[in-house]
Amino acid sequence: MSRSCCISLYHLSFINSERAFVLLCFLNHRLSSPRPPGYNMASTFARVFSSRARRVGILSLVGAGSLATGFFFNRDYVGAASQQRKLYPPSAEYPDLRKHNNCMASQLTPAIYARLCDKATPNGFTLDQAIQTGVDNPGHPFIKTVGMVAGDEESYEVFAEIFDPVIKERHNGYDPQTMTHPTDLDASKIRSGQFDERYVLSSRVRTGRSIRGLSLPPACTRAERREVERVVVDALNGLQGDLKGRYYSLTQMTEQEQQQLIDDHFLFDKPVSPLLTCAGMARDWPDARGIWHNDQKTFLIWINEEDHTRVISMEKGGNMKRVFERFCKGLQEVERLIQEKGWEFMWNERLGYILTCPSNLGTGLRAGVHVKLPRLSKDARLQKILNNLRLQKRGTGGVDTAAVGSTFDISNLDRLGKSEVELVQIVVDGVNYLIDCEKRLEKGQDIRIPPPISQFK
Ligand code: ADP
Ligand code: MG
Repeated sequence: MSRSCCISLYHLSFINSERAFVLLCFLNHRLSSPRPPGYNMASTFARVFSSRARRVGILSLVGAGSLATGFFFNRDYVGAASQQRKLYPPSAEYPDLRKHNNCMASQLTPAIYARLCDKATPNGFTLDQAIQTGVDNPGHPFIKTVGMVAGDEESYEVFAEIFDPVIKERHNGYDPQTMTHPTDLDASKIRSGQFDERYVLSSRVRTGRSIRGLSLPPACTRAERREVERVVVDALNGLQGDLKGRYYSLTQMTEQEQQQLIDDHFLFDKPVSPLLTCAGMARDWPDARGIWHNDQKTFLIWINEEDHTRVISMEKGGNMKRVFERFCKGLQEVERLIQEKGWEFMWNERLGYILTCPSNLGTGLRAGVHVKLPRLSKDARLQKILNNLRLQKRGTGGVDTAAVGSTFDISNLDRLGKSEVELVQIVVDGVNYLIDCEKRLEKGQDIRIPPPISQFK
């Protein structure tokens, strides 16, 4: 089945009634959801319809027959696969999750699997594709992973019965069925945003944004991936002043240039992480991947790694407030430029900004520092302190690396149900608390485990 079929009348005429129903419910839901300020719904559908309509028009000129043949061929293939599946009951297809420790494995039951295993999104993304990375990666040495990904915006609706409890577990009790997600990009509200630079080496805030109408990295076609690159780079060329910069495609970089950017913490790692490869996100690497950055390398946008885009503000030292100010300003500029080109980001009021991994829904924001904690890191209470402050610890080389020495990447654990400002403030207060603990230990004083930040009611 054509993966790019989304909302065109052309494709609607071919999809079966159940999928058409899901699609229409989805559209209805999107149209009835309120948007944050500046959100241009009318342009979404104008854009999607007009682009699809244009495509259909072009295709009919070049000979729709060949496309239709391809389309039916794919449909036959999907049909055969689903018939094959029906030879066996869902219980025979159920993955062995007995040794697993990720959120998907904690929440999936045979009954949920049985109800969802034959469903697909309008793009053809299935439950088995969504959970494959969690099946193949029972655990992770440094963090509790989510264990599933979305292939497109609709995945979160079609497979809500499993995504919703996973989201609730991962985001501190946030219930996507009853709660709504706030957005706040007013960096002036941050208090005490300057860290002690004897401890904090660098500060960074990142998020992701997805382009509505195009499949996400686990499921996109090569053409869709290249379209993401084209749309985003085209928009970024409009950035001015401090944000002005240029795009560096991975395919045009030398191996040394790429390694230097990775070593300097500017660029994503090579696609060696099994979390990425098992989710299908490393397909066709390095096609249509790259990094855009401003001249000072303080505002960076990754293209087509785990998300369509990752937007990053970072600098050496401990001025988290300034990093967040640049983040907010840059992100709002990027959104304006994308909208100017007739595209928009995936968003809804329950899940906030839609990204590939459910751990990044909502704000998509990870605000973090590289911080030296030689004494506290040897204290058995550190993990409990981090849990209570809703903070996460990683190695400084990225999520798949162990800590080197006593320097850690400390960042917010949650992304959903709290605004960008609230999450950055949690990191500011939490990291200041950790630095205080480190100083107390230096002086031979005792430290206390703080009370837990409350769960959503
Ligand atoms: P992300 O959540 O952005 O995907 P990763 O853990 O995958 O983060 O790390 C991506 C890259 O960003 C790595 O090279 C890592 O060293 C770098 N990085 C993350 N946080 C910081 C920070 N506070 N300062 C400097 N570099 C950082
Ligand atoms: Mg990463």
